Amino acid sequence: MIQHFINNTFVDAAEGGTFETLNPTTNTPITGVADGSAADIDRAVKAARAAFDSGPWPKMGAEARSKYLRRIGELIEKRADEIAEAEIEDTGIPVSQIKKGAIPRAADNFYFFAEMAMKIGSESFPSDGKFQNYVIRRPVGVAGLITPWNTPFMLETWKVAPCLAAGDTCVLKPAEWSPLSADKLAHIIQEADLPPGAFNIVHGFGESAGAPLVAHPGAQLISFTGETTTGQEIIRNGAATLKRYSMELGGKSPTIVFDDAELDRALDGAIFQMYSLNGERCTAGSRLLVQDSVYDDFVTRLTGRVRAIRVGDPQDAATEVGPLIHPDHWARVRSYMDVARSEGATIAVGGGRPPGFPGGNYFAPTLITDVRNHMRVAQEEIFGPVMVVIRFKDEAEALTIANDIRYGLAAYVWTGDEDRGRRVAESIESGLVWLNSHNVRDLRVPFGGCKASGIGREGGHYSFDFYTEMTTIHVALGQHPIPKMGALK
Ligand code: NAD
Repeated sequence: MIQHFINNTFVDAAEGGTFETLNPTTNTPITGVADGSAADIDRAVKAARAAFDSGPWPKMGAEARSKYLRRIGELIEKRADEIAEAEIEDTGIPVSQIKKGAIPRAADNFYFFAEMAMKIGSESFPSDGKFQNYVIRRPVGVAGLITPWNTPFMLETWKVAPCLAAGDTCVLKPAEWSPLSADKLAHIIQEADLPPGAFNIVHGFGESAGAPLVAHPGAQLISFTGETTTGQEIIRNGAATLKRYSMELGGKSPTIVFDDAELDRALDGAIFQMYSLNGERCTAGSRLLVQDSVYDDFVTRLTGRVRAIRVGDPQDAATEVGPLIHPDHWARVRSYMDVARSEGATIAVGGGRPPGFPGGNYFAPTLITDVRNHMRVAQEEIFGPVMVVIRFKDEAEALTIANDIRYGLAAYVWTGDEDRGRRVAESIESGLVWLNSHNVRDLRVPFGGCKASGIGREGGHYSFDFYTEMTTIHVALGQHPIPKMGALK
């Protein structure tokens, strides 16, 4: 049974409710989970508030906070196998991608922000020898952290680490389809012996647990990762209590392959950045744009490779694509196959349940060709192992297609011409562009999207623009003139 974690104590839901989390390979229940409501959120926010107002966390020196964060990173490494098992069982992400990717990255998030905590500095603006103006950064207060089910542990630590580094306290509301690894984080934080209330978790559904967190007057910050429509709803619900938001939302990112690219590498990159993590990846290159002159050959090779991707049990080291998170999500991804056919596109590979997998949420790696950019399958985020392929003539057309979409999270450009590469990269409306590279992250750089893909950036020192409050202090150095109102005789 998974409980909430409030004030360093594991507790049941106030109203006693539970829900089940399912194993996506079979859809059998793994365990019950405390079903959070407004009462649980209120209790958790009050604990975080008390920890902020009267506990040691925000006032403690950066060095001391940094030690706690390093300790959490070490405990993640120590328990990496146990966390990975939980994540695989809950989400269906293949073991190879969890053990080598998402879990080490989660520990790195804590190590990185342990360093960054020491670097939150202040800026100073001397003015004509008359004033010394300087800016300090203080923690803001209580942060509500609301996270999705895709690579949940990595994304949760991506928010918790900078939040704690800044001296804020928090309430994490993990996604209802993937609560197991968040519970591991709670146990780790309990073992790291953080001051009570600095970190809290309330499990539960978006409407019953997420929405009260957004509306709670005791929380000032909401860092949200999830669907664009949920982000819109959250901004509406937080208006009355005037929240500050960081919004990491959906994407439909282009991979552009020019005919002068190193095509073997472009092929590897396009496939990996689409089908890894079961295609349930916000930065997936789900719109593949291929130049006319190499289109037929490239797509023929792509078709063969996608057909050969190894679908299987996520616990199997050879598996490349596992089952989707939940039957409802499977049905949503499947529904796009009908959309594709009705729009006149061709399902060249996959399109449904792969042979040999009668149960669970397995969905075959899918490639859709004969796609035009205005079609729904090209414009909407499917969030499964489904790539659409679009043909383009030249650089100008590639850019037009790439930008003709509401999203702007990531883009991948493959070309042998450096000048063109930079030109295109700098003209794409996107928060992140990789040039001749798959999705390799640098923790120092700002991460986030533009247009309907997000508001604000987290990552590196940019995280502290969100998690800290700036106060500007104006110090008079001498006797500057002050108008003497009312003093005239
Ligand atoms: P989702 O929006 O359905 O849910 C995300 C979280 O929000 C969950 O914890 C959910 O319970 C909660 N929630 C739902 N309704 C809420 C409400 N009214 N108020 C408060 N909280 C609410 O998203 P999902 O299906 O879990 O995740 C997939 C989406 O996340 C995709 O669109 C993907 O692109 C996006 N994503 C974006 C990034 C990024 O960095 N931009 C990263 C990962 C995932």
